[in-house]
Amino acid sequence: MKYFVVSNISKPLDSPDTLQGLAAGKLGVSPVEILDAIIVRQSLDARKKGRLKYVYTCAVKLDASHPISGLEEYVVPEIDLSAGTLSFKQRPVIIGLGPAGLFAAHTMVKKGYKPIILEQGKPVAERAQDVRLLCDTGIFNARSNVLFGEGGAGAFSDGKLTARNRSAVTDVIYRTFIEYGAIPETGYMAKPHIGTDKLTRIISAMTQSLTENGAEIFYNTQVSSFKPENGGTLRVMSDKGDWISDCVVCAPGYGARALFREMLKLNVTLEKKTFAIGFRVEHPRDFIDSSQYGESGISAVVGAADYHLTESMGNGRGIYTFCVCPGGEIINASAEEGMMAVNGMSLSMRNSPNTNSAVVVTVYPSDLPDHALAGVEFSEQIERACAQGPAMHAPVQRLKDFMRGVKSATAHSSYKPGCYCEDISGLMPNFIVKALHHGIHGFDRKIRGYIEQGVAVAPETGTSSPVRITRNPDTFESVSCKGWFPIGEGAGYSGGIVSSAADGINFALKMV
Ligand SMILES: Cc1cc2nc3c(=O)[nH]c(=O)nc-3n(C[C@H](O)[C@H](O)[C@H](O)COP(=O)(O)OP(=O)(O)OC[C@H]3O[C@@H](n4cnc5c(N)ncnc54)[C@H](O)[C@@H]3O)c2cc1C
Repeated sequence: MKYFVVSNISKPLDSPDTLQGLAAGKLGVSPVEILDAIIVRQSLDARKKGRLKYVYTCAVKLDASHPISGLEEYVVPEIDLSAGTLSFKQRPVIIGLGPAGLFAAHTMVKKGYKPIILEQGKPVAERAQDVRLLCDTGIFNARSNVLFGEGGAGAFSDGKLTARNRSAVTDVIYRTFIEYGAIPETGYMAKPHIGTDKLTRIISAMTQSLTENGAEIFYNTQVSSFKPENGGTLRVMSDKGDWISDCVVCAPGYGARALFREMLKLNVTLEKKTFAIGFRVEHPRDFIDSSQYGESGISAVVGAADYHLTESMGNGRGIYTFCVCPGGEIINASAEEGMMAVNGMSLSMRNSPNTNSAVVVTVYPSDLPDHALAGVEFSEQIERACAQGPAMHAPVQRLKDFMRGVKSATAHSSYKPGCYCEDISGLMPNFIVKALHHGIHGFDRKIRGYIEQGVAVAPETGTSSPVRITRNPDTFESVSCKGWFPIGEGAGYSGGIVSSAADGINFALKMV
């Protein structure tokens, strides 16, 4: 029997009504005529503080004896696995097992391929031990950390599965996460969140299913270079041997700086792209919850609050919050020893006492020298400047001191292994500091006390990749290297878990 779409169903938090009843009210029919109602989308409307409500889109099954005209039929979005046009002679080789590589492999396996996956890091359970060691002691493993290893940068992330645009592909991603252990609500929440604790288990289950279905995963295998062979194939060179294929999928994430440099040396076309730099700002969770909900107690019902703030300079440069981690922690996200970078994560319960977010400034290609890796070098300079403390300690500063340009006497944050007090203004270029000042003044007007209550931990350099591996938009093939298919965040075509996974799926769908 058909289902029909009913949108904009409002349900205040304290409403005793059922969704079936509310959908009936919306359609002007009796509740008994609604035989079933499935939630398609749920979002929280917190615009009126103290009067929060959920807003639903539902698919409803109607009593056939009372048809209602003009309703849109609800169709479960599906992707067509048989529509591809690219054919290959050899087994595909995928470099990198982050969301892009993982979902590319998952789709390839569904299509009957047996991809070979080369991942420089360890399986996620072993990797978790290295991340714990880093947090406890500051000992950094260059191959196994928050960025590198099974699951990629996505594994120790906050696990927010936000998608700018919903499509059949994003629906498949949510359904896949649910199939491997995410809660069913992931499929319909406007801002689904898995949490690091659950995400690592889901990734393990997914990779186990890949290998059970013919994929081969080589961990601790770092690709160092590649070169064309006769017959239009590529030889991929790693510290564990070589692989030859006419389909090499390059999904290495934004942290793969050595591989970017190798590509440049091999004349693979790369271009600099817009990205963003700044720091993480942490506040007490109760403070953010009160500012967003009008009261903090309600977060026990609807979850810790997030927020989104933007400002722009007179010249159009943007300053914005990004990747808010309600009830989360600040975590190390360095790509190399001697470089400091931070990011945010949270557990599924989102119940830590703090909420943090990136506060970043847009950096345009025109801000940088004229070469493809200028953005990478720009990030590295800032990361090096911020790595002056003891083992993997991050510079910290109260926001009010940052605004005055003075080092804080004391400042505390959730970042482990620890922080050292520094004037962050001295660690970043002037135009970034100036823009941060401008933006943060604006944020303080929107959330009163934002400056007084906030603590900054620097730097945040990982909101997106500063480089793009130029590819043919139809085939995804590098414009300058046959058989080389760049995908995901490091390739410059996505940002975040869902869009990176989607890029991986979209490539695999191109294959016959
Ligand atoms: C702490 C943190 C929190 C985040 N939170 C969120 C969030 O809540 N929601 C969200 O949407 N996004 C989040 N992100 C961003 C998200 O994780 C990334 O956008 C996403 O993982 C990018 O996917 P990817 O597959 O393109 O690359 P990656 O996930 O970076 O994966 C690339 C993989 O390639 C491997 N690799 C690199 N070079 C080589 C080589 N030479 N040889 C072999 N293997 C190699 C790496 O080890 C890595 O495992 C977060 C990121 C971090 C760091």
